[in-house]
Amino acid sequence: MKLSPRSATPRNLRWFLALPKFGSILLIVAVVTLLWLLHQNELEEERTGLIKDVLWLEQILRFQLNGNEERLQQLVYDLAASNDRNALFRLRAKHLLSINPEISQISWLDAKRNEVDALPSGLQVKTDTNEAGSAVRQRAFEMARRIGEPVYSEPLLLNGLSAVFEVSLPIYIDRRFAGTLTATYPLQTLLNSQVPWWFAEKYQVVVVDDNDTEYAAKSNIKGTPSLFYELPFDPPGHGLKLHVTSYKSAVNPLQRLLAIAIMVLAVGVFWSLWIVRDLMKKRSQTEQALRAEHAFRTAMEDSLTVGMRARDLHGGIIYVNPAFCKMTGFTQDELFRAKPPMPYWVPEQIDETFAIHQAVLAGNAPKEGFEISFRRKNGEHFDALIYEAKLIDGNGQHTGWMASVIDISERKRAAELARQQQEQLQFTARLVTMGEMASTLAHELNQPLAAISSYNTGCLNLMDATDCTIADIRPAMEKIGIQAQRAGKIIRRVHDFVRKSAPKRAPCQIADVIDDCLGFIEADARKRHVLINCTVPELPDILADRLMLEQVLLNLMRNAMEAMANTTSANRRLEISVLLRSEEMEIRVSDRGCGMTDEIKDKLFTAFFSTKPEGMGIGLSVCRSIVEFHRGRLWAESNPEGGMIFHVTLPVEKQ
Ligand code: ADP
Repeated sequence: MKLSPRSATPRNLRWFLALPKFGSILLIVAVVTLLWLLHQNELEEERTGLIKDVLWLEQILRFQLNGNEERLQQLVYDLAASNDRNALFRLRAKHLLSINPEISQISWLDAKRNEVDALPSGLQVKTDTNEAGSAVRQRAFEMARRIGEPVYSEPLLLNGLSAVFEVSLPIYIDRRFAGTLTATYPLQTLLNSQVPWWFAEKYQVVVVDDNDTEYAAKSNIKGTPSLFYELPFDPPGHGLKLHVTSYKSAVNPLQRLLAIAIMVLAVGVFWSLWIVRDLMKKRSQTEQALRAEHAFRTAMEDSLTVGMRARDLHGGIIYVNPAFCKMTGFTQDELFRAKPPMPYWVPEQIDETFAIHQAVLAGNAPKEGFEISFRRKNGEHFDALIYEAKLIDGNGQHTGWMASVIDISERKRAAELARQQQEQLQFTARLVTMGEMASTLAHELNQPLAAISSYNTGCLNLMDATDCTIADIRPAMEKIGIQAQRAGKIIRRVHDFVRKSAPKRAPCQIADVIDDCLGFIEADARKRHVLINCTVPELPDILADRLMLEQVLLNLMRNAMEAMANTTSANRRLEISVLLRSEEMEIRVSDRGCGMTDEIKDKLFTAFFSTKPEGMGIGLSVCRSIVEFHRGRLWAESNPEGGMIFHVTLPVEKQ
């Protein structure tokens, strides 16, 4: 599996993980800023609306007062020109009052400020009782007289309760000051009549002076004030101001809902980004683990010398490791998806290999593995040891077969070499034994030869005698024949013993093997004055290489005789006995020799260990390997009567 090279490295990853964090913080900041801007915009709009409305109201009031002023001025002109002034005043004043409800009274004063007439009448008297009010009126009157223009008075309290202001217009008759025409505006009435209902629904309108003394107010709502705007109330002026306050309108529920929805969505986005961040973190950790796992697997694959081959349930190759490719010489691409017959099968053994292949797919592959011959791409054959196992996937499903393939050609060659060397060693050991026995054998051979020679001399002498008949010579000739056979037997035995032949197991009688050995060493035993005692019961045949067993027993017997070199001649006894058990037979070779220390016992079967000056030390090690080749055991024990007992067991196979 190849991982994308664009996968995030830990350093990049920190950036990737920081992005959602930054993103979500920026989003929240943007949403809050947007809401704030919207709010500011709303406030600004509210403020602009307030200013516009206040300016409009001021204009309306000014327009109304100016209009009234013009109508009063017209009345002033008409009064100056009229012959029946009283009647004209009454008529026109009544008309003016009826169309201008904001005017509470119109009064006509003469040049000395005495009331000529007033509509409605009577109010003047009451205001004059108020000293402050009287002074205010006086000042306005004087001003109008002096400047000859309409003059608005300062506000004054009527009966100490309702605030009013007046406009005084000078009357000139024949260019002489003849008094004033004064209209009284109660401020509350003015507001009530001029401030429309919708304005009062939105704002509170208050008329105040510089000291913030409230003179009149109009509003239909109650609530928390938010914005206000002040504008000079001129006319009448004198520091009067229109103070207009807007009230917080109830927030539109839809707007509130929208804001809440935006906030909820922002939190949702933040949350989802956080989850994405977590997921990314987890993904990266998994990728990291996967990469480590991949590197570990690759390293393992590359270092493996055992070939690995995976096949699907139909036998098609789905995976081979580098070691398998190296072993067979084919590339992974050449082997991937290959189907039987595989390119590495030996063409001459296609049928056998296919049968094994089928057995594996049927789940009948031997658990202990099996050997098979394969062919490399270059045509070279090699032996492989294969262990098959089920391929189980992550869901526990059996998806194919995994095989480990070991090239055992080298191992087999080495084993063969070792076997040949062992054989060579055994042969050498036999030659050595024979060499050691040469002088005894020569001596033994000498006896029949000497006998033959003396019989031959006897015969010749007889032939020289005149009365010799053939019948006289015959016995001697027969004896010559017997001795020649005896010599021939010795030579044949030697020849057989040193003959080089491959190990071959065949049924044989252990008694015969022992007999042969005794035939070899009898002469030596005589020379050494060793008494040989041999007890062999009736024995079944065993499957063995006779020559090899002979070599073992001869070696044990010779060692035993050599060990008894210093034993008193009465005790020089070599005992050979055979025990038959249910599944094996045991041959014991015991002596009364010098025995051995524990140290020697430990090294006894080690090659080239010898305590003898001319000893080679290979005898017992070769003996053990021969016995083990026959699936038997060889060991030594101290003889309780002195000396040693060597035990050889050999399996008895049921015929
Ligand atoms: P070699 O006879 O050439 O020394 P072996 O392998 O036959 O080689 O014997 C190894 C050694 O084991 C001998 O040198 C001897 O010390 C000891 N050994 C073998 N058989 C006996 C025995 N029956 N009694 C005492 N020592 C023995």
